[in-house]
Amino acid sequence: MRSLIEASKRLVVLTGAGMSTESGIPDFRSAGGFFEDETRAQRMSDSFYRADPEGFWPEYKAVFLRPEFLAAKPNPGHLALAELERMGKDITILTQNVDGLHAAAGSAHVLELHGNIHAAFCPRCGARYTLDEILANDVPHCHAYTLKGGDCQEILQPDIVLFEQPVRHYQEAFYAVARADLLLIIGSSLTVEPVASLPQYASHAAKRVVINLEPTDLDERADLCFYERQAEVFAAILAD
Ligand SMILES: [Zn+2]
Repeated sequence: MRSLIEASKRLVVLTGAGMSTESGIPDFRSAGGFFEDETRAQRMSDSFYRADPEGFWPEYKAVFLRPEFLAAKPNPGHLALAELERMGKDITILTQNVDGLHAAAGSAHVLELHGNIHAAFCPRCGARYTLDEILANDVPHCHAYTLKGGDCQEILQPDIVLFEQPVRHYQEAFYAVARADLLLIIGSSLTVEPVASLPQYASHAAKRVVINLEPTDLDERADLCFYERQAEVFAAILAD
C-alpha cells in the first residue's frame, strides 16, 4: 500500500461516510441512521425546502448542525491525506461528506460532491452566509441590500446538496478519476449514485485500493482491500 502511494503520480481519493465516522459523525444513511426515518429523509429534499423553507430549517439543523458534529475534528486519516499533499503528492479528494473535515485538515484539492454544512446562500440574490450567521437565528434570512431598497429577506438555502438535487463538480471529478494512476476509495460502500459510478471511469492501468468496513462492488477489481477502520490502515502505512 505504501509503495502504491509512493509510486503514484496522480492520486485520487474518494471518501464517504466511513471517513468521518472516525471523527464521531454518524453515517446518516446507515441502518439506524437519521435517514432510515423516511419522513426525515424526505424533509431534507429540494421539494420540501421549496414548499416550506421555514419548516425545513429546524429539521435541517436537527440533523446536520448538531453541536457535536460542528465540534468534530479531522481524524488521523484526514490528516494523513493532507500531509501527503503537503509533501508534494498530486492528490485530489472527492468526498461525499458535507462536514468540511478534509479542508479543516489542510487538504487544498477537495471536491465536495454533496456540498458543505458550513455555508448557506440566498436563492434569490445569491448572497453567501457563514455558519455563524446560519446559527444566529432559528430560520436564517438574507439581509443583503436590494436595488429596490431594504433587505432581501429571502429564507436562505444550505450549501449542501439536498435530495433531488444534482451532485456538484461531477465533471471535474470524472476527469480527475480518468487521469488518476491510483484510486483510493475510503469509507464508501459505493451505493449512492452518481458517485458510485465514478470508479468505473478510471483507466485500466490505474491501481485501485478500497478501505471500507464492508465489502463493496469494486473489491473484485481492486488491487488491495482493507476491511478495517481507515485511521488504522493509515497508521500502519505511516509506521512502515
Ligand atoms: Zn438575498
